Amino acid sequence: MGTETLRVTVWNEGRHEKTHAEVTKVYPNGLHSVIAEGLQAHGYTQVRTATLDDPEHGLTEAVLAETDVLLWWGHMAHGEVQDAVVERVYRRVMDGMGLVVLHSGHFSKIFKRLMGTSCDLKWREHDQENERLWVVAPAHPIAAGLPEYIDLAHEEMYGEHFDIPTPDELVLVSWFKGGEVFRSGCCWQRGRGRVFYFRPGHETFPTYYDAQVRRVIANGVKWAAPVNAAAPTYGNRIPLESLD
Ligand code: ZN
Repeated sequence: MGTETLRVTVWNEGRHEKTHAEVTKVYPNGLHSVIAEGLQAHGYTQVRTATLDDPEHGLTEAVLAETDVLLWWGHMAHGEVQDAVVERVYRRVMDGMGLVVLHSGHFSKIFKRLMGTSCDLKWREHDQENERLWVVAPAHPIAAGLPEYIDLAHEEMYGEHFDIPTPDELVLVSWFKGGEVFRSGCCWQRGRGRVFYFRPGHETFPTYYDAQVRRVIANGVKWAAPVNAAAPTYGNRIPLESLD
């Protein structure tokens, strides 16, 4: 599927923007609108947004049925996401919808459900910490057009160990000023769906305006797009004698 035909939904919790002035200053219309703008700048024409406080968190059956790739940013209100909506998203991923989980979304119900592990990590928030993300899979489609590494002047640190299942493919590894490292761009297949986790994006920093971060997210959405393979059938196979 081409970029222009992919139907993308950017989901954002949207609470920090309402309660923390320093976040509102960086993202006056919410992180979701800036993430959506980044995708539009990369040629995506069918991008919608949804937030926690929308009815059914904006993720109705109808919206999910019309979503090829869902992006997920959450942090302070993971617990408020209704289990029924998590189940709905989970089933869509099993059915082939792509999911791109951003930054603190590592602790979202949907990511933990898909990974089956705690998804815990080390963290440190400091104004003067930078991040360098190294491309460790230069032939991977998510690395398309990227330099050898991406430098972000200000980011929150996430450090290993990151309690996830070993990624099917690892595209980016981060280094931080404190000496920590982190698996920052991770790919998995779950059912017929694809999951991409991308680390940067702390709410007080202008990370989602960064050109290279936008490129990674745009590439990640493209990679996570459904491949539209037939749904496998399971269970008892036709008896051999009926093959004659
Ligand atoms: Zn953060």
